Amino acid sequence: MPVPTHSYVHEMLYGELADVVGPENVSTSQSDKIAYSCDYYWIPELWIDRGCRNPEPDFVVHPCSAEEVSRICRIAGNYKIPLTTWGGGSGSQGGALPIQGGIVLDTKKMSRVLEVDKTSLTVTAETGIIMQHLEWALEREGLATMHVPASMTCATLGGFLAHRGTGVLSTKYGKIEDMVMSLEAVLADGTIVNTPAVPRHASGPDLSQLFLGSEGTFGVMTKATLKIHPLPEVRRFHAFVFPDLHAGLEAGRQLMARRLRPCVIRLYDEAETRRLIRRVLGIDKEGAYLVFGFDGDADLVDLEMSKALSICRALPHEDLGTKLGEDWWEHRYDFFFPNHMFHIPQAFGTLDTVATFAHIENVYRAMKQVVEEQFPMARYIGHFSHWYEWGCMLYARFIIDEPPDDPHEAAQLYNRIWDACLRAALREGGLLNEHHGIGLKLGRLMKEQHGPAYAVLEKIKKSLDPGNVMNPGKMGFEMWR
Ligand SMILES: Cc1cc2nc3c(=O)[nH]c(=O)nc-3n(C[C@H](O)[C@H](O)[C@H](O)COP(=O)(O)OP(=O)(O)OC[C@H]3O[C@@H](n4cnc5c(N)ncnc54)[C@H](O)[C@@H]3O)c2cc1C
Repeated sequence: MPVPTHSYVHEMLYGELADVVGPENVSTSQSDKIAYSCDYYWIPELWIDRGCRNPEPDFVVHPCSAEEVSRICRIAGNYKIPLTTWGGGSGSQGGALPIQGGIVLDTKKMSRVLEVDKTSLTVTAETGIIMQHLEWALEREGLATMHVPASMTCATLGGFLAHRGTGVLSTKYGKIEDMVMSLEAVLADGTIVNTPAVPRHASGPDLSQLFLGSEGTFGVMTKATLKIHPLPEVRRFHAFVFPDLHAGLEAGRQLMARRLRPCVIRLYDEAETRRLIRRVLGIDKEGAYLVFGFDGDADLVDLEMSKALSICRALPHEDLGTKLGEDWWEHRYDFFFPNHMFHIPQAFGTLDTVATFAHIENVYRAMKQVVEEQFPMARYIGHFSHWYEWGCMLYARFIIDEPPDDPHEAAQLYNRIWDACLRAALREGGLLNEHHGIGLKLGRLMKEQHGPAYAVLEKIKKSLDPGNVMNPGKMGFEMWR
């Protein structure tokens, strides 16, 4: 419920927030309200494209420290006014949208690198830092987090922690939750908590993991210590085309089953190979394009590379060599450029899921069947980006080139495709998500994925935030009040 602009309560709230952060760090301007009403979720983008207004915040605040965040949380709690944390606003799930109005807390003024520990190889930074800025600071010292997501120039460390994000080098260096040593968070009642300094202990459950992936619903993460790595001496790539997706998946599975440590494996289905790999890399082949890479000391990389090559060459294949693998690395962001990426007025959804090797191909095929048989106006493509010892992540997409003109009709269709695809994925052993998070978009499906275990999450939410002030309406918690 928005706070009426000319009400006494609005004046009181404004005054209290300005006391904490200074009037220059509280905005009620119309342009800010509009800017903070749309992230990278397709439906708010559609709304704006069709001249509609999205739910807007009443106040946008820019705190500079955990102490200021703590005081803002107390104000929100006293008034029972929603408080939604906003990092870069690059999330695709509507996670940062202030759908019930209230305060948007933008973290980007908390962006300091606090300590680089070159002995233990860790870095401590505030969570509002843009990921690329953290990388630049470390690169100057010959170091890196190795968290290299495609949105690193526009997303914050806190956003990745909140969504359990994944970067392109995750197959070797892990997802962000594997990199965290410890973190600081501010709870709904304003308490500032710090989790233990190292993640390997037997002093009870891992509290850092409680906050990772909680999408601002359990608290605001304000500081994190991450593992870091020396920059590698070399990073080398190689590419193959396999006759079909099934053969490509088998190659990737064998690379992981042999416990090699590639920093990258990316496998494109036949449709993406035909369309995107040809358009972006100029490789005109039928089948499934697979690229992998190793990094580290040159002699170790050579050894791992030769093992990987012999695995792939033992399967039916066409060897594309190193150049067409290195080209992929050089052009990895081109896939997001206008002519290759999808944009309004097209409708598209990234069906980002994960499963074991025993299930992942069925998950891919089940979602493909849903799109092709139930939604003839849509097409389906996919690639497999992040690989584990036990399975991999599927980055599938549905695309509708000409969605309905009526925004309500378009949104209904969009939601129906999501529901049908993700229910098919769940039936086949996939999950709702691997790295984009749940946000507003997928909250309604959380109970279907977690079953009775979802009640555990609900109880944690209730005990940490009894007033449901922290990012209400997200992750399926009390979707509306
Ligand atoms: C072109 C493009 C490419 C992308 N590629 C990738 C990719 O390779 N890998 C990947 O993982 N994602 C990717 N994404 C998705 C997006 O960048 C991530 O979801 C990212 O984690 C969002 O970070 P943000 O700072 O923009 O967060 P926001 O969108 O601002 O917020 C996301 C969620 O995190 C919460 N939040 C933010 N900061 C905090 C905090 N400090 N404490 C508590 N909660 C907080 C918000 O409340 C919200 O629920 C991509 C997006 C785009 C547009």
